[in-house]
Amino acid sequence: MPKVAFYTLGCKVNQYESDAMAELFKERGYDVVDFETAADVYVINTCSVTNESARKSRQMIRKASRINPYAKVAVVGCYAQLRSEEISQIPGVDVVIGTKDRRHIVDLVEDAVKRQEQIVRVQDIMGERTFEEIAFKGLRQKTRAFLKIQEGCNMFCSYCIIPYARGPVRSRPMESIIKEAQELAAEGFKEVVLTGIHLGLYGHDLGGKGIHLLEVIRRISQIDGIKRIRLSSIEALELTEEFVEELALMEKFCHHFHIPLQSGCDSVLKRMNRRYTAAQFRERVECIREKMPDVSVTTDVIVGFPGETQEEFEKTFDFIRDTGFYRLHVFPFSPMEGTPAAKMPKPVKKSIKEERSRRLINLSQDLEKDFRQKFLGQTVEVLFEQETDMGTYEGLTGNYMKVEASARKNIHNKLLPVILRENASDHLIGEILC
Ligand code: SF4
Repeated sequence: MPKVAFYTLGCKVNQYESDAMAELFKERGYDVVDFETAADVYVINTCSVTNESARKSRQMIRKASRINPYAKVAVVGCYAQLRSEEISQIPGVDVVIGTKDRRHIVDLVEDAVKRQEQIVRVQDIMGERTFEEIAFKGLRQKTRAFLKIQEGCNMFCSYCIIPYARGPVRSRPMESIIKEAQELAAEGFKEVVLTGIHLGLYGHDLGGKGIHLLEVIRRISQIDGIKRIRLSSIEALELTEEFVEELALMEKFCHHFHIPLQSGCDSVLKRMNRRYTAAQFRERVECIREKMPDVSVTTDVIVGFPGETQEEFEKTFDFIRDTGFYRLHVFPFSPMEGTPAAKMPKPVKKSIKEERSRRLINLSQDLEKDFRQKFLGQTVEVLFEQETDMGTYEGLTGNYMKVEASARKNIHNKLLPVILRENASDHLIGEILC
């Protein structure tokens, strides 16, 4: 049986797509093996969101050729889309596919074997108008299944290369989404995480009335077996009052939003070409809290954006502290060639970026602990995902708090009531009530 190995860089969307491609290989009789072992085909699903991810993509391409110099190496994804020529020059690369045509990956690899020549299949993505269906399979490693419903982004934030790598907004047809959600329910998945590059714009390209994100959530919530629906990420301005009000009424909707902030200072937001002010962002968070008092809000922040002064950073710091997020993902700014921000004047020194990152990471740890503290003594539902090295089980609440509890039997993929007893360093410890 031929063997294929995957290495995936970047976001959950990439992970989802790697799983879907692995499924295509399996259907053709391939065995999917670990990347570190000798395989006949290596697939490197690349990322270009930072220079570091692009560097790592190149490193893994070379590593695949080292593990088995006779293997076929296929390079796919965002970095391949943007730098196909550069990648095709790397010794050992046999197939280059961008962010389109991944559904043909097995044919392309087998063609490269037959013809004994390199195949580069990278097309202009900016004119692409349809969602590429790769396979009806989601990310199925845990108890939560990721379900991709949307591709592309039209926002062109000044630091972001994604619109150039993934093209414009394309929405997956509703029937196809529901079919996959039903399959996931039949396989026993209780939680579905809706994912995409710019989820809130779902339906904008479909033209017809009534086709929007809320409708997707409504339809999935009608599927028996699916107990939870979560959004991977959503932009602040897409959280309108009516939308949040409807979500709050849906029993299966998880009270957790990941809303990228990037900066809490208006002048920086403007240079980033983000389309909201700090005040508008705060307004949306307050609206969510009013309708879902137990909600957790996580976010992304970029520090050291070109020209970010100490005063601008302090505004961001104060904004984050006062808004009371649950957790922050902090990214020191890294210029991406091809984006407007890469050419902006006044780069911030590395040491200053590190110092600002450190301060925000410390703040994030404090905010997280404070948030969890409020739930001590309460009973919450936890979907248990995995056994720990200590023999206990770990899982997540609907509002994304990690909870550990002891159990006498296997409680993997069980949704159980837990009373929260202790606030540990990065999670809560509770007692199962049944
Ligand atoms: S909204 Fe901005 S940061 Fe997010 S994918 Fe689109 S361009 Fe990139």
